[in-house]
Amino acid sequence: MTKDWNTRTKLVHEGIRRSQYGEMAEALFLTQGFVYPSAEVAEERFLHAGPDEFIYARYGNPTTRMFEDRIAAIEGTEDAFACASGMAAVNAALTSQVKAGDHIVAARQMFGSCLYVLKVLQGFGVEVTLVDGTQLAEWDAAIKPNTKLCFFESVSNPGLEVIDITGVAKIAHAHGAKLVVDNVFASPVFSNAVAQGADIIVYSTTKHIDGGGRALGGVVCGDREFIRGPLETYAKHTGGAMSPYHAWLHLSGMQTLDLRVRAQAESAAKVAKAAEGHPALNRSIYPGLPSHPQHDLAMAQMGSGGTMVALDLKGGKEAAFKFLNALEIVKISNNLGDAKSIATHPATTTHKNLTEDERAEIKITPGMVRISIGIEDGDDLVKDIVGALDAV
Ligand SMILES: *Cc1c(COP(=O)(O)O)cnc(C)c1O
Repeated sequence: MTKDWNTRTKLVHEGIRRSQYGEMAEALFLTQGFVYPSAEVAEERFLHAGPDEFIYARYGNPTTRMFEDRIAAIEGTEDAFACASGMAAVNAALTSQVKAGDHIVAARQMFGSCLYVLKVLQGFGVEVTLVDGTQLAEWDAAIKPNTKLCFFESVSNPGLEVIDITGVAKIAHAHGAKLVVDNVFASPVFSNAVAQGADIIVYSTTKHIDGGGRALGGVVCGDREFIRGPLETYAKHTGGAMSPYHAWLHLSGMQTLDLRVRAQAESAAKVAKAAEGHPALNRSIYPGLPSHPQHDLAMAQMGSGGTMVALDLKGGKEAAFKFLNALEIVKISNNLGDAKSIATHPATTTHKNLTEDERAEIKITPGMVRISIGIEDGDDLVKDIVGALDAV
């Protein structure tokens, strides 16, 4: 039903399916199955189910489909498939496209679980080459005739390095490979990934899309041939479908996605700027700061620095812990994109499974704290965060 609407309008209305009752809010169809009026209809449905015909919630559900249509519409892809978590989406997006003997080139600076999925694929005979994602020459050098996929996080977790979607897409497409982008940190609000050449875009919807830190989810966005072909086939048979209840929560979260993320990015810019140059810090890392090494690329690619700030404290783990324990508004946790601001110490939590050398290679220092800026008042956040730096 995609109309010539702008994002905020789509986020409220796109994809809605109303029952015979004409309910205003999106209905929650909490059902695993569907009743067929006759055996002939059941037979027909299993042969080819139309977009409004459902079989089993692992394959699809009206509430989940509303969510898929809404996200596809704002991302600008033909279709989308909702998964149980961001990792179910990453796993399906990669695994559905490769077999033994194929090759994947991926950025080294990535979320630990994404690296784990690549390791599993290697165990099944898929070749994987990791590169420094910010260096286009490394992508170019790594790609081979059997390369099927290039894969990276457009803004890396937690180092906030920005990778050039257009640049890597050109290299991938010149060699007949597809580009899969994990776009969580950009969020759909600052994503122009389709126009920039990404073939498949993956989100952990647990983050900005839910926006309230309530429901785990993920989604794969792409063209219809891929989404309703190999991706859906893989996802529906391996059990990674999103719960209709989570889709329903996400639909409600999405109505305010654009408002929230823009407000969060505005506060993130304030915080990063206020912290920059603080004597307790080596660096205030934020793609929106002119001092960020990929600042120009970030602005061209996303038009914003995003909602995440990383602070690299001089005093290592001890200083980072002092800082975390001095925060009042910002909570110590490990989600991101939440309405509530959250601070994480990657070296001892989300990235603790990497060796010290592996962490160093992707610039995760013992003093690094990752902050997800929420929708609280920006000046309050600046006071809280600079105050905690002062306490160090
Ligand atoms: C959180 C996250 C994931 C995984 O998502 P889950 O919903 O936790 O499974 C994948 N990639 C990135 C960049 C993330 O931040």
